[in-house]
Amino acid sequence: MTSDRTRNQTRGLAFDVPDQHQGERPAPSGIVIVGGGMAGLALALLLRHHGQSAVTLIEAVSLAQGEQLDTPSFDARSTALSAGTLAIFAALGLSEGLLSRAAAIQAVDVSRRQRLGSTRMSASEEGLAQLGAVVENRWLGQTLLEAVRADAGIRLIAPARVTQTRRLKQGYALHFVRQDASAQPEKIECALLVAADGAGSRMRDALGIAAHSDDTGHDALIANIGLSESCPEEADGVAWERFLDSGPLALLPLPGRRMALVWTGPRSLIDRLEALPEADFLAELEQAFGLDRLGRFARAGARQRYPLVLTHACAQAVPHGVVVGNAAHNLHPVAGQGFNLTLRDLALLAETLGATDCPGDLSLLNDYVSRREGDQALIRQASRWLPELFRVRFGPFAHTRQLGLVALTLWPGLRSQFAARAMGLAN
Ligand SMILES: Cc1cc2nc3c(=O)[nH]c(=O)nc-3n(C[C@H](O)[C@H](O)[C@H](O)COP(=O)(O)OP(=O)(O)OC[C@H]3O[C@@H](n4cnc5c(N)ncnc54)[C@H](O)[C@@H]3O)c2cc1C
Repeated sequence: MTSDRTRNQTRGLAFDVPDQHQGERPAPSGIVIVGGGMAGLALALLLRHHGQSAVTLIEAVSLAQGEQLDTPSFDARSTALSAGTLAIFAALGLSEGLLSRAAAIQAVDVSRRQRLGSTRMSASEEGLAQLGAVVENRWLGQTLLEAVRADAGIRLIAPARVTQTRRLKQGYALHFVRQDASAQPEKIECALLVAADGAGSRMRDALGIAAHSDDTGHDALIANIGLSESCPEEADGVAWERFLDSGPLALLPLPGRRMALVWTGPRSLIDRLEALPEADFLAELEQAFGLDRLGRFARAGARQRYPLVLTHACAQAVPHGVVVGNAAHNLHPVAGQGFNLTLRDLALLAETLGATDCPGDLSLLNDYVSRREGDQALIRQASRWLPELFRVRFGPFAHTRQLGLVALTLWPGLRSQFAARAMGLAN
């Protein structure tokens, strides 16, 4: 083989850079997205919406029609969608289906256990019909997938595994194998390769982009919680974010007198909470959350946990390659910002590329990255800083966080800015 071939082996994936011997073959065209999670599916639809004619999606896990979705994106979790995200889905014509099984967020209540000071942002105060909505991830996935399947310009290859990625002069060549016994290796070339394969992205490695990872030592525990008859009606449509000494706990409204719990804390705490019998788990939740807002809890569904290893890519664009979603930034779930931030990224990426025949053009990709830097840095820092700030019991931060809540309560202007950012309206 040629001497300019640099072979790198990362977790079984071979990739070469670059192929100087492409000769006079026509330049590859089209866009390949690896990873059909929330980011990958949403990007495919946005690219088509903005005029790209050929988009291919390669996903490792089965997305077969009629099977229950069970992928890293579309599992038992629920996602709080900001007003900005809902506006993007509306432009794609997905709102009606999505909202048919979503709970509106009318208010967000932020408080700290055993401390004075709580702040409430409400849709009516912000002049909006709703601040956002909460949707179960499987329904979000179902909605996105149906739209992808209905679009003849999107080729969906799943389940399939990329076995080799090779840099060409003007794009990438990918070798992949479909996950059925008789499948032969296949090859596809593209002008732009999008890494949308999650926080541990192998495509990011293949693009030669490094990432920083920070293991917080904390996990997030999720479960659906059934409300009892004692839950007051005025609690309908309220999303609760409660800061405990161990970390934040969120309860988000779901349709049908249920709430989606996201309880974050040190791994030892989550180990214990996960192992508790249902009744003991509910008792502990009532103690942590208090009984004055939602009354007693009636039931807890299956519990599932997620390690909070925060990751961000050192770069997001290279010639003919771009990194998006969790592969670009994997955030702490406090304030439910990860997917909302990603969708703002994807909307601008698709708009920047428009219908261009050269989607791998680095100047276009760099333009997109530079226009997203500010929002990404702010949300990344805030979601990193917020749990720390509320965890400290004593010292200067203890005072600051109290001031923070009081300030948000007292100065509506400041609160509006905070709310606008949280809703994905401020850019
Ligand atoms: C507990 C919790 C609660 C959250 N709540 C919210 C919230 O309320 N609001 C919000 O905005 N965000 C929230 N988030 C963040 C949100 O879940 C992420 O932003 C989102 O999952 C990112 O999606 P993704 O597609 O980038 O990555 P992933 O979900 O990791 O999907 C990656 C996809 O790539 C596929 N893949 C991986 N490797 C390959 C390969 N080699 N070839 C092909 N395919 C591959 C995987 O199978 C998967 O389908 C939360 C996160 C957590 C952990």
